[in-house]
Amino acid sequence: MTTFEYAPAPESVRPRIRERYGLFIDGQWCAPQDGRYFETINPANEAPIAQVAYGSAADVDRAVRAARKAYDKHWRKMKPADRAKYIYRIARAITERGRELAVLETMDGGKPIKESRDFDIPTAAAHFFYYAGWADKLEWAMRAGRTPHALGVCGQIVPWNFPLLMAAWKIAPALACGNTVVLKPAETTPLTALALAQIVQEADLPPGVVNVVTGDGATGAALVGHDDVEKIAFTGSTEVGKGIARALAGTRKRLTLELGGKAAHIVFADAPLDQAIEGVVNGIYFNQGHVCCAGSRLLVEERVHDEVVARLTERIATLRLGDPMDKNTDIGAINSRAQLEKIEELVRSGVAEGAALVQQPCELPGRGFFFPASFFTNVHQSHRIAREEIFGPVLSILTFRTPDEAVEKANNTPYGLSAGVWTEKGSKNMWVAQHLRAGVVWCNTFNQFDPSSPFGGYRESGFGREGGVHGLYEYLRA
Ligand code: NAP
Ligand code: MG
Repeated sequence: MTTFEYAPAPESVRPRIRERYGLFIDGQWCAPQDGRYFETINPANEAPIAQVAYGSAADVDRAVRAARKAYDKHWRKMKPADRAKYIYRIARAITERGRELAVLETMDGGKPIKESRDFDIPTAAAHFFYYAGWADKLEWAMRAGRTPHALGVCGQIVPWNFPLLMAAWKIAPALACGNTVVLKPAETTPLTALALAQIVQEADLPPGVVNVVTGDGATGAALVGHDDVEKIAFTGSTEVGKGIARALAGTRKRLTLELGGKAAHIVFADAPLDQAIEGVVNGIYFNQGHVCCAGSRLLVEERVHDEVVARLTERIATLRLGDPMDKNTDIGAINSRAQLEKIEELVRSGVAEGAALVQQPCELPGRGFFFPASFFTNVHQSHRIAREEIFGPVLSILTFRTPDEAVEKANNTPYGLSAGVWTEKGSKNMWVAQHLRAGVVWCNTFNQFDPSSPFGGYRESGFGREGGVHGLYEYLRA
């Protein structure tokens, strides 16, 4: 087979980046009360990008007060159709600045530019467009006779894997329903949330309707613990989510949790294998596997196991790993050194427990955090790699013989966020989908997202829904 080398195709846009970012509170950029800043780096080369304010409990308090004032003074009283105009403005600004935002997302977080450009940023804009349309139609989302009311100030905490998109998932429905927000981005990826704050400022939203307080876990904990917050929306790890659930138990505060996952991706022998392999590759290697709903457990019908493994081995050899800013890159950088170490530790455990490791043959860049596309065969249900979320480009392959066995193995996990099924037979597809305990099941496809479609999990993957009409209920009282 002849292979062609790809010429470098680096993205040329360089976004405007400040040397130092303050907190965005009450429509203003302000210094953190105790004067602390931290550095955010580019995980693909470890170079510092900017200094970012560290928000303390006192800063969180300022932000919540500003959000409360904005709620009472402006936002709750505004005509819903006018609220919608502001949300549309945000959506349009994200679209207009799409290329710059994509570059910023890739620099700060390490994901391939083709993903931030074609998925993260357009989908973030789509959420604002979608929820802007709901702002003056909330009665139609409710059961007849019920009047929707906003909750008040919402504290929103997001992780580093889809920084702008997760912020959009949270802010857009909250604003449409008439709430004001305080957003806490992840420590390693604050820059697109800060760019969103600039957009909010330029869109001339009343001061305090959206506040962004950067910092770390302690900043998030201060937001969770603040007395004047009516609701916490959290996306992140199951461990931190459980702590938040404990902290809020017995309080009046509402809570939604979007947590981890260990999704089963089921491939039957009658599936269209070429398409299924592409679905499996997308399911686990998209965003270096830093995806809560990643198809990280592949369940293959035993009689096509060897063929699937052979095709997958061939396919991952064609993935291009390297500079995330190159438009041809498939596998970018791991988000942080800490995450890379977590992936390496779990992969070592897989080898030690007796699974067989296959990796894409490639050279890793000398600097930055990288891990090759990998999968394990000979995996047993008891292995850590079959049970724990790896949150990296590592797939665990198990086998089954009957649909019943596939369902039983798929459901043998404390998580329940997503799943995928591949078979030519429609009735089998439907039967399996009905029996899978997961919030989202994709049939003969994977990783499809649309703002009109609700997303969320159950069991240890959390509760509550984001997206669609269901996403409105989490921000309304009726
Ligand atoms: P994480 O450590 O739980 O962090 C998530 C967010 O919470 C970050 O902003 C973090 O701040 C903050 N935080 C940390 N400790 C906190 C505390 N005690 N109180 C309040 N906030 C706190 O999770 P992660 O490692 O960043 O994200 C990966 C996880 O997110 C994976 O498990 C993934 O499955 C899950 N996820 C779920 C969904 C979903 O929709 N279900 C979507 C995406 C990701 P710092 O980063 O600054 O520490
Ligand atoms: Mg960073």
